[in-house]
Amino acid sequence: MNVIRVSFSSLIPHPYLETGWNTFQVNIYESETLFDRARKVLVGGVNSPVRAFHAVGGTPRFIKHAKGCMLTDVDGLNYIDYIGSWGPMILGHAHPDVLNALKNAADNGTSYGAPCEAEIELAEEIIHRMPSIEKIRFVNSGTEATMSAVRLARAATGRDVIVKFAGCYHGHADSFLIQAGSGIATFGLPDSPGVTSGSARDTRIARFNDFSSVEAVFNNEKDRIAAVIVEPVAGNMGVVPTEDGFLEGLREICTHNGTLLIFDEVMTGFRVSKGGAQELFGVNPDITTLGKIIGGGLPVGAYGGRADLMSMIAPEGPVYQAGTLSGNPLAMAAGFKTLQLLNEDAYDNLEISSRRLEEGLNQAISETGTTAVVQRIGSMLTLFFSSNPVRNMDDAVNADHERFGRFFNAMLDRGVHLPPSGYEAWFISLTHGEEVIDRTISAVKDIILNVP
Ligand SMILES: *Cc1c(COP(=O)(O)O)cnc(C)c1O
Repeated sequence: MNVIRVSFSSLIPHPYLETGWNTFQVNIYESETLFDRARKVLVGGVNSPVRAFHAVGGTPRFIKHAKGCMLTDVDGLNYIDYIGSWGPMILGHAHPDVLNALKNAADNGTSYGAPCEAEIELAEEIIHRMPSIEKIRFVNSGTEATMSAVRLARAATGRDVIVKFAGCYHGHADSFLIQAGSGIATFGLPDSPGVTSGSARDTRIARFNDFSSVEAVFNNEKDRIAAVIVEPVAGNMGVVPTEDGFLEGLREICTHNGTLLIFDEVMTGFRVSKGGAQELFGVNPDITTLGKIIGGGLPVGAYGGRADLMSMIAPEGPVYQAGTLSGNPLAMAAGFKTLQLLNEDAYDNLEISSRRLEEGLNQAISETGTTAVVQRIGSMLTLFFSSNPVRNMDDAVNADHERFGRFFNAMLDRGVHLPPSGYEAWFISLTHGEEVIDRTISAVKDIILNVP
């Protein structure tokens, strides 16, 4: 027999439950039923930790379908979506042209384990947009991309040490799981058990937006540093833009010391501009890692850079890296179609909607006199309940995350699905029109006034 979960607390009107003689208006959450079922067979009921709502409380909504900027859950409730699958859905969900490209690709088979033209098309498009990339290798996730990029950097320099920044996330490979932003911050784990001291030994942590902390690491052991890896706009401690001169400083110190500079553009790549953050800031890395948008919502990752570096990878060179499903024709087709639709106009439109949201949020904050700041670059944005601008992970931690949890749930009740943690970016898509943005801003105002 099915257990029916009943909740009287929600503000959302729900279906009627017929219980024999009487009819009560109650809330039956199919999402709760599914979450109970999921927790029996999936760790935490999810396949990626932040989805479990631990940071904000409550029950994750199980999604039935998504279209444009809207999610519909299994209870038939609709939400304006600011997760955007954590970045890939920049065109909005289920874009007809992407679906068509996928259907055409699928008709020709879903995987070959042999080369196909779609891989070349996507590679050419990426290289055209990011001139610092001369050759590219596709993998299946951002994690794989950064892990492989570091292997390449170590091979190319003959050095072991990598420098990363507190609060930057580069996927879950062992050597990166040290002060790694959102997921980890959310769960209060300083580190992950299972990462050996051997893997952690060669990782150094510097402070984001603090060039002197980078100089300090170089002063100590400049001959041992293979690479500096950075999110050129941090998105995994919430949106924290790099300040003037910071990326330029990294470029200079790396060049000067024979260290490779890796831009992790898994999130920012083709999100913040047509050529990614490297175009926006005019600073070129040696190696770039990509993911998210370049798969159009299918699993993908990539790393690329100067041809001489990339030629060290097998089969041209000795650095081994392979993948059964790498360059998958469906992922290539969805990614290529997505990039084709991201022209100058698209970025102009994203900027207009994103600015409207930013300005509306700032107006809500000043009208209500509440303590919060909005940080935005392009179509990624975070509202921090912080009295000061957030410049690094320490500032992000000091924001009021309990308040964010209440805010998140109140927004959910009003039909707006934010990312379920205060350490995340909200993503705006081309389908977030004025009406949807204004509805979001009204909900925010209402909550600031009514939910302390
Ligand atoms: C999402 C993300 C990753 C990890 O990508 P996965 O596909 O989740 O493995 C790495 N780096 C950055 C900057 C990211 O935003």
